[in-house]
Amino acid sequence: MTSPLRDLPVEFIGSFPDPRAPLAPILPEIALLGRSNVGKSSLLNAVAGRQGLARVSHTPGRTTAMNVFRLPEFYLVDLPGYGYARASKTDREGFAKLLEGYLKRRTTLGGVVWLLDIRHEPSDQDLAQREVLAEREVPVLVALTKADKLGLAAQRVQLAAIAARLEMPVSLFHLTSSRTGQGIADLGESILSAVREAA
Ligand code: GDP
Repeated sequence: MTSPLRDLPVEFIGSFPDPRAPLAPILPEIALLGRSNVGKSSLLNAVAGRQGLARVSHTPGRTTAMNVFRLPEFYLVDLPGYGYARASKTDREGFAKLLEGYLKRRTTLGGVVWLLDIRHEPSDQDLAQREVLAEREVPVLVALTKADKLGLAAQRVQLAAIAARLEMPVSLFHLTSSRTGQGIADLGESILSAVREAA
């Protein structure tokens, strides 16, 4: 089974540092959120079925902007990775403002794919994002990344622990690996369902 997004055309629209940047036409937006190095670019490439697509999001000058990709019926919005220890203070303040402005006030937001590394307890910064998401009535899917690093039994243990820590239902979680393809097709299906509900 492959991701249903693989068969759809994808176009890079641009990098926008302002969370209010208007996109035309107006379509539902699915945002990708996660800490730096969680595997967000790899997952975006895997779900969209295109290697190198998300390279743009690691291009200097674009790591503090939202990078927008257009699919026929929606936009994928790659938000800057939070929690990068070596980022400058100015950069950190800039993308904190962008994340907050986007997640709290973006009216076209149709859903969030939130990425967490399956091996780690949610960090304080993850928990801060959880607060923001809880305040906003928007569907959230959680992708636990790098599942290939654990055996199947350990994956289930971590999923239950992380869901309990975040006080979120297990049904929202996807076990994913960009390396093995685990969970990628399912995640693609869930993204399309979120788009249809938002439209
Ligand atoms: P980003 O900073 O969140 O965009 O993360 P990247 O996609 O650039 O990945 C960060 C690091 O994690 C890289 O070294 C990737 O090779 C590695 N990585 C990403 N996804 C996976 C995965 O599914 N499994 C494993 N084992 N490593 C991964």
